[in-house]
Amino acid sequence: MDQPSYDVYELEKGMDAHNLTMREIRSHNQRTYDSKSPTRIWIDEDNTPSGIYKSLTIILNTGGCRWARAGGCTMCGYVAESVAGGSVSHEDLLAQIQVALDYEKQKNIHCGQIKIYTSGSFFDEREIPPTTREEIAKIFSNRDRIVIESLPDFVTEQKISDFTNMDLSVDIAIGLETASDRIRHDCINKYFTFEDFIAASTIANQAGAGIKAYLLLKPPFLSEVEAITDMIDSIDQVSPYAHTISMNPSNVQRHTLVEQLYFSHGYRPPWLWSISSILRETAKTNIIVVSDPVGAGSDRGPHNCGSCDDIVFRSIKDFNLRQDPSVLSEPSCDCQETWKFILENETGYNLPLLH
Ligand code: SF4
Ligand SMILES: [Zn+2]
Repeated sequence: MDQPSYDVYELEKGMDAHNLTMREIRSHNQRTYDSKSPTRIWIDEDNTPSGIYKSLTIILNTGGCRWARAGGCTMCGYVAESVAGGSVSHEDLLAQIQVALDYEKQKNIHCGQIKIYTSGSFFDEREIPPTTREEIAKIFSNRDRIVIESLPDFVTEQKISDFTNMDLSVDIAIGLETASDRIRHDCINKYFTFEDFIAASTIANQAGAGIKAYLLLKPPFLSEVEAITDMIDSIDQVSPYAHTISMNPSNVQRHTLVEQLYFSHGYRPPWLWSISSILRETAKTNIIVVSDPVGAGSDRGPHNCGSCDDIVFRSIKDFNLRQDPSVLSEPSCDCQETWKFILENETGYNLPLLH
């Protein structure tokens, strides 16, 4: 059950079929983006192995993920936000960093942690050339921690050392999504294996870096209960290799297969109750598990009935910083009964039972 069969690589079957579909869907995107501005910047707070930090999060616009250009993952709309053409110059990438630094200055905050995402892989040298990487490491050498997002194939000791040599505590953020190769290949269309993730985590550890694993709650084609089971199982399997797990509840992004399914009544994002129940269950483990449900309470994001969404969302945010499961048990609402009914009755062939 856990191994993808070889036919995923056959022409117009399996992964090849997913990629054809994803390329077709993405071809409808007509928007263009400025290569001198990051895709997004914000400041928030994070629980890390060395305490709670203010973080400056920068989503650099690099031309996007190589895999997304081939078709890519079924839920991922990030490439639609990238500069077309697949590359951004050294000068423009540094201009984006400057925009982020100006934003931080304007807010009058000096963040101890920097998180850099690229909607792809920071360590892919087609996205971020080596000289730009070295320059960015120097710019942030006055911080304590840095989180760098990368697919496992691009992780090397030498690239990590650009940052550890600056005395930064480094975390590599890897979008593993699930510990199941079957779900990662067939539902998400992500190409690498759990073994590849373990290999990257070994390299990171040898280079003195930690791993932050990103797991996806409720990929398409899974029922609510299958999604919960997969998440709990994945957290268990990933915990020896990562100090932190970020559980990302799926949301419906533009120009994706998930969006197509959503419009044809074939997909509902997860319930917020599912997130709380997983966090309660995994709070016993040694690992930090956090969840930042993007778009919570909206139809395209994880949601409950509408009236309890806000309070459940706030309890999850509270849990992220305190890791105290009792905060998750405080909210209650009649829709918990509906959610329980769905857990018992929704299956792979009748989903979603309710939007
Ligand atoms: S989820 Fe990551 S690997 Fe998949 S298409 Fe998006 S950026 Fe690329
Ligand atoms: Zn409710």
